[in-house]
Amino acid sequence: MRILEGDYWKEIPLYENISEKEWKDWKWQIRNRFKTIEDLKKIIKLQNEETLKKVSEIYHFGTTPYYIFLADRQNPNDPILKQILPDEKEIDENYQQGAFLDPFLEDEKSPVEGLTHRYPDRVLFRATNFCSVYCRHCMRKRMFLEDERSRTKQEYDRMFEYIKSNKNIKEVLVSGGDPLTLPNSKLEYIIKNLYEIDHIDVIRIGSRELVANPFRFYDEELLEIFYKYDKVWLVTHFNHPNEITSETKKAVKNILSTGTPVLNQTVLLKDINDDKYTIENLMRELLKVKIKPYYLFHCDPTKGVYHFKTGIEKGIEIMEYLRGRVSGLGNPTFAVDLINGLGKVPLLPQYLIEKKENYYKFRNYEGKEVEVKI
Ligand SMILES: *Cc1c(COP(=O)(O)O)cnc(C)c1O
Ligand code: SF4
Repeated sequence: MRILEGDYWKEIPLYENISEKEWKDWKWQIRNRFKTIEDLKKIIKLQNEETLKKVSEIYHFGTTPYYIFLADRQNPNDPILKQILPDEKEIDENYQQGAFLDPFLEDEKSPVEGLTHRYPDRVLFRATNFCSVYCRHCMRKRMFLEDERSRTKQEYDRMFEYIKSNKNIKEVLVSGGDPLTLPNSKLEYIIKNLYEIDHIDVIRIGSRELVANPFRFYDEELLEIFYKYDKVWLVTHFNHPNEITSETKKAVKNILSTGTPVLNQTVLLKDINDDKYTIENLMRELLKVKIKPYYLFHCDPTKGVYHFKTGIEKGIEIMEYLRGRVSGLGNPTFAVDLINGLGKVPLLPQYLIEKKENYYKFRNYEGKEVEVKI
């Protein structure tokens, strides 16, 4: 975990005169985010400015000051920079061949605009298409092609109506874009309405603010919302150990104090985190700050993202390595999301290697074999 002490942001000349109150205010972070490549020049020396501009004209660019502060800004291979800096491969057909704008048919299979109802007991609720950072590997990269906007109350109301009239739905996954970039009043409107539906047990918020803007969780009003509507779970999206800092730890402590569990989803990304040591380290860092690793995803076949894909074997190799070495608490489920909305499929190395008449033959994490009578 990186310890950030004192006025650490002042090491960047651009922020020399920024007070702690400003830096640690989530709204300041969003207001002062880098939105254009021109903005970015204030903080990084760019070599391929024209390319960056060309790509960012197609797929939005954006990052908070905090998130880019965490990067080694001189190093083009930095795992944080690679998640936010546009890359020509995003628009190069050679890399994007076989990828889809909406691989999971989220829009097509939507019963009401903004909702995707894939599984019987849970529904995906897309609250906004805005994010404070635009991750180059976003599975919903098609959103980057639209103008930024959150939905109107009337649109939310139609989504609530659908959920109210489907009693099989037990869980609503509020995602986006990033729902925690919404102002508290709008966010509370969503959470309150979902909370008041009797058959909803879980409101799962999917957000990257803990990674890109941990100060979101220094906001007492938000913490009160989490405390009051006690069906909320938070699922965040850390991809690399360098993203975990003392600010993360403080933010998680605040979230846990409201009774809200915190889980993480990681995406395997080529040349960013696709090796077992990096993932092991990430899982350990997550546990240190009390975040439970939930999923490790194979990279989705989304257009503009496909250059990040690894082989499926890579994920299985990592799971093989983690089992037995890292606490069970630090073992996520490795999964592939199937195209056309067929759902997520978990994948594991094979541990049950043979089935005989009365025996099952297993292998353990070290490769030792044993026959067990069952
Ligand atoms: C991923 C996803 C979910 C949640 O699946 P879990 O396995 O419960 O995490 C629900 N709906 C949609 C459309 C999804 O893509
Ligand atoms: S924060 Fe989430 S929704 Fe937004 S760009 Fe990143 S991955 Fe996509």
